[in-house]
Parts: sequence; C-alpha cells; structure tokens
Amino acid sequence: MNMVDIILKKREGGSLSREEIDYFVQGYTKGEIPDYQAAALLMAVFFQKLSREETFLLTDAMRRSGDVVDLSGISGIKVDKHSTGGVGDKTTLIVGPLAAACGVPVAKMSGRGLGFTGGTVDKMESIPGFRTALSEKEFLELVNGTGLSVIGQTAQIAAADKKIYALRDVTGTVDQISLITSSIMSKKLASGSDAIVLDVKYGSGAFMERLEDACTLAQMMVDIGKADGKKTIAVITDMSQPLGYAVGNSLEVVEAIETLKGKGPADITELSLTLAGYMIFAGEKAATPKQGRDMAERALKEGKALQKFRDFIAGQGGNAAVIEDYSLFPQALYQREILSTEEGCVGGIEARRIGMASQHTGAGREKKEDAVDLSAGILLAVKMGDTVQKGDLLATVFGNNEEKLSMAAQEAAAAFRIKDNKPELPALIRTIID
Ligand code: URA
Repeated sequence: MNMVDIILKKREGGSLSREEIDYFVQGYTKGEIPDYQAAALLMAVFFQKLSREETFLLTDAMRRSGDVVDLSGISGIKVDKHSTGGVGDKTTLIVGPLAAACGVPVAKMSGRGLGFTGGTVDKMESIPGFRTALSEKEFLELVNGTGLSVIGQTAQIAAADKKIYALRDVTGTVDQISLITSSIMSKKLASGSDAIVLDVKYGSGAFMERLEDACTLAQMMVDIGKADGKKTIAVITDMSQPLGYAVGNSLEVVEAIETLKGKGPADITELSLTLAGYMIFAGEKAATPKQGRDMAERALKEGKALQKFRDFIAGQGGNAAVIEDYSLFPQALYQREILSTEEGCVGGIEARRIGMASQHTGAGREKKEDAVDLSAGILLAVKMGDTVQKGDLLATVFGNNEEKLSMAAQEAAAAFRIKDNKPELPALIRTIID
C-alpha cells in the first residue's frame, strides 16, 4: 500500500477501505507520511467527500491513534458536553456546575481557543491559580468528590487529530463535514464518558454556516456516538451573533458567574438550561429532557450550581473569591468604546467578525503556540433587535496593547449592522437530533 495510490483513489471519487484509512492515520501520526501527501489527501476528501462508512472508519482509526481514557473509577453515568465552536460560548462553565448539582458526574476534557473561536481551558486559566493540567488520579478524585472536573485535553487523546487538525487549519480543509465529525468524535469517544450532549452551531460564527449542513454534521456525530453504545444527543443552535455579551477569557468567566447567580443574559441562560436538561436526562437523573431542565432551573435558583462552581474552582487550585470580587481577575490596561454612527435597530452582529476582533485584542491565538491575553476581549452593549441612537455605545474593546486595540476596534465596529427596521430574530435553539 502507498499514499500516492490512496490519494489518487480518493481524487477519482473512490471509496477508501479500512486498511487504507488506517495506513494514512497511523503513518501520519508516526511522522512516516509527509505533510504534503496528507494535505493532498485532505483536499481530495474535501472535494470528493467521505461516505458514512468511511467517516466511521476514519473516526475509529483516529480514536485508536492515542490513549483511550478509562473513567470506570467514577461511579454513575458520566456525561460529556461538546460545542462545535463559537464566539462568546461560555456554556461549559455553566452547564458543568448545573449538571453536577443535579447529580450527573461531569469529567470533561476541553480544548484551547484557536482562530476566532475561544476555548474553555483558556477561559478557566483566567481564574487566578486555576490548574487545567491535573494527574489522572486528581481528575478522578475531583469528579468522585465535587462531581465535576474540567481539564485540558492532552496530545495523547486521539493523537492523530492534533496533527491532522493543525494541517487542516493551514490547508483550507477545516469546514468539511466528515473531517469535523471524525475530529470531534474521535476525541469524544477516547475521553471515556458514557453519554455525550453536542451543541452543534450554525451561522456566521460557526464552521457550518447553513442549518442543513449543521444538521447533517449533527446526525453523523450522533450516529457515530450511538454506534459506540453511547447515548448521544445533538442540540442545533444559532451562532449568527455572539452568545451573551462577553467575548474574551476573563470577561466570559465573569458572565458565566453572573449567569450562575441568576443574572445572566437571556440567551446564555436559555441555552445553558437546555443543554444541562439534556445532560441530566442523558445521565438518567431525569425521565425527560424537560424534567432535566426543570431540575437545572431549580439548581440555578437555589444557588446549588453556583456552590458547585465554587467547589470546582477551589478543587482545581483556583481562588474562589473571584465569585464575589471580579477585580481579582486580570485587568486590561486600555479600553476603547465603539459608538453607533447611525440611529436605528441592531440588525446583525456578525459573530465571526467579533471573534476575529477579540483575537486581535490578544484574547485569541493567531498561531497555536501564541500565549493569550486573559484580560482582553470585547463586551457588547447591545444585541440584535435593540434600538440605538447616534452616539450610543455598541461595544467596549479591552486590551493591553494600544496598536492591537485599534485593529480590534476597527474589526469589531464593522460587525454591527444598523437597520431601519427590527430584524427577525433567529431562534436560539433550532432543533434536536437524537
Ligand atoms: N472542533 C474540533 O475539535 N474539530 C474540528 O474539526 C472542528 C471543531
């Protein structure tokens, strides 16, 4: 077997066998197949696509390319939650405590941000002292104790994905349904949870801009999870404008805390309660998702989820006093206000542009080796449908580098569309695939 034959076969629209897919995944992970051949195959896949069978085989080969985590030391049905990536998406920090407060063990491995999308690990690291690298023993003990632990995903989980994703990122092959499916599901299946709730985003701030593509992606991921014996549910949600008002690491953690205090933005609160409801249902602590949601709502109202978050921070070495005193978070030196130049109604806030602006402030990475500025980011002052006058505040941009801040402010300002009429607001939760 050789790579040239495999590339040619896919280029001509043929179906790859298990042996051929294994040959590529193993060879590339071990460094035996050069980047240029792997890139050629990825581009052939991008144009010719993978069948359902090939996507299953690729996911399985990638899952087997690294460590497979054993969570059997944790009692109960462990439920994982994964978002396909968005702007201002801090829901893990809210649904984790909500689900754990309702008795569902959450042992989660999260990623860092890349490009215009943020990552939970960076957000958590804005809490002074918070450790995202724990030993397996510490991780299991925390989940068995608090019921919740979130750590950074090691390079050994689905090792092939780390290399393949980095190559996709620089070869224009990220937004392909089978490649996204295998990337996400290989990591989820290797992470050891018994059930998975997927938040599949669509819209300008998501990899899948069209609803139909998001549904196809979700269906494929659900089928793969189920074929592996895991209860898998996908919630298809809107990402045409950022979630909530805060984009950027510490800014988002503050918004997550406000939400856990019952004072969060309506969209974040709604999405978190829905996702938590499905997690509680998948963890068999509720008979229906609706009952799960009611339980999550009670945990929020009674302060039990906030208490879980406090225990979670302390358990991972963080300073839980941040919950009462937001000045303990890293603070940006500079801020710039974006004011409306028109009078009208906010017809759109392009999520991708806000994500890119946040990246320019230093809150996100340009390259994966970059350090992130934990205090930088963007705080929106309005959401779609709000009316504004000339001179009204649209957003504030925070950062520690004035040059970067100017670039970010320019990009952020271009994200706003002011219209004469009130726009039709997109439904936040479009559909469920299970
Ligand atoms: N998130 C992933 O982990 N992989 C993708 O391919 C896209 C989003």
